[in-house]
Amino acid sequence: MSKLAIHGGPKAVQTPAGDMFKWPIITEEDEQAALEVLRAGKMSGTDVTMQFEKEFAQWHGLEYALGHNTGTAALHTAMFGCRVGVGDEIIAPSLTYWASAMPALALGATIVFAEVDPDTLCIDPKDIEHRITKRTKAIVAVHYCSHPCDMDAIMEIANRHGVKVIEDVSHAHGALYKGRLVGTIGHVGAMSCMSGKSLAIGEGGMLVTNDKEIFQRASAFGHYERTRKDMDNPELAPLAGLPLGGVKYRMHQISSAVGRVQLKYYEGRMAVIQRAMNHFWDALEGVPGIKAHRPSKASGSTMGGWYAAHGLYRPEELGGLSIQKFAEAVRAEGGTCSPGANFALHLHPVLNEADVYGHGRPTRNAHTERDVRQGPGSLPVTESMQERVYSIPWFKHYRSEVIEEHAAAYRKVAAHADELR
Ligand SMILES: *Cc1c(COP(=O)(O)O)cnc(C)c1O
Repeated sequence: MSKLAIHGGPKAVQTPAGDMFKWPIITEEDEQAALEVLRAGKMSGTDVTMQFEKEFAQWHGLEYALGHNTGTAALHTAMFGCRVGVGDEIIAPSLTYWASAMPALALGATIVFAEVDPDTLCIDPKDIEHRITKRTKAIVAVHYCSHPCDMDAIMEIANRHGVKVIEDVSHAHGALYKGRLVGTIGHVGAMSCMSGKSLAIGEGGMLVTNDKEIFQRASAFGHYERTRKDMDNPELAPLAGLPLGGVKYRMHQISSAVGRVQLKYYEGRMAVIQRAMNHFWDALEGVPGIKAHRPSKASGSTMGGWYAAHGLYRPEELGGLSIQKFAEAVRAEGGTCSPGANFALHLHPVLNEADVYGHGRPTRNAHTERDVRQGPGSLPVTESMQERVYSIPWFKHYRSEVIEEHAAAYRKVAAHADELR
């Protein structure tokens, strides 16, 4: 194998990327749909959104879908839907985007972080049960970097304790867990559809559920215009007309319109991504130091659209080579490789020191008797992940020669690891 590019050799990746990484795929159909909303002057309406919701619910085989202006908003109303309130607790992974957990603070609840599994990068079911207290209302299962959580184990624990499960599907639209679409397994699914995600519609979020009460509570919280006609809930009906949360979470109809078109083509485009990404990892099978982040074929689980595709790093197989040096060498080859993933939330000052609402104590502990904060060293697996994961190229098309060049960049660096140490 030739000399490493970082040492002056030829790059492994030679073919220009073209549109290999461009996302979302926008055609005239998306443009037409957006123009129609603009020209009809119905950007703030709900008719297109309701159509999108109907199609979204159908895709999931669920009764209800509720459009939101962000995924954060959908998670906020999902938590309210699950009756997360003052003094309550949710259990969430710390290795995730902040919106998986932080809306709980705005409800007067707090967050107890659990460990992730080092192979799936999802919440570790073995680290959940001992964290459940009488105040625990919900577990947030984030299908992290497209990998489905171990939902059977999570649901078993949750159901035994009468705790709700919120699936954060923001990374995993269309992923299967043992043949079932993620978002349909917990009590409610909430997800971002902002334009970086694999189902990309602009800014937007979606809540899906079969639970009428969760749906109606979510509607009542942030969708005042829906409250009147949608509610037969005796607790909510008299309150119709004003949003319980004092927030307005309506989806922008250009997003809904683009979303309808994107949804129509999503499964087809996702299948191409899956073929390309699996090809990349198949080409790297057995290479020391690196390991695919994906479920086994036999599991019946899939990675959906492979949003935020990452790989697992095993420095011990490369004589302890640091992930920074490894990644730098892959990038020099023309490849994609950035060490780490989302920073660990439990170490951030907003979750430790900040008194956001003026309670005279950290917001994290605003309504708790005990100190629930988790300092450095409290979640060692989560804290070690920055050294053990890296981003990989997220291919949107299947072009085997380009994919193999990118795989060759990784293979070459692994083979020359001793020159980098
Ligand atoms: C993107 C994201 C969100 C929030 O979605 P927005 O649409 O950006 O508000 C929530 N959870 C996870 C895991 C995300 O990656």
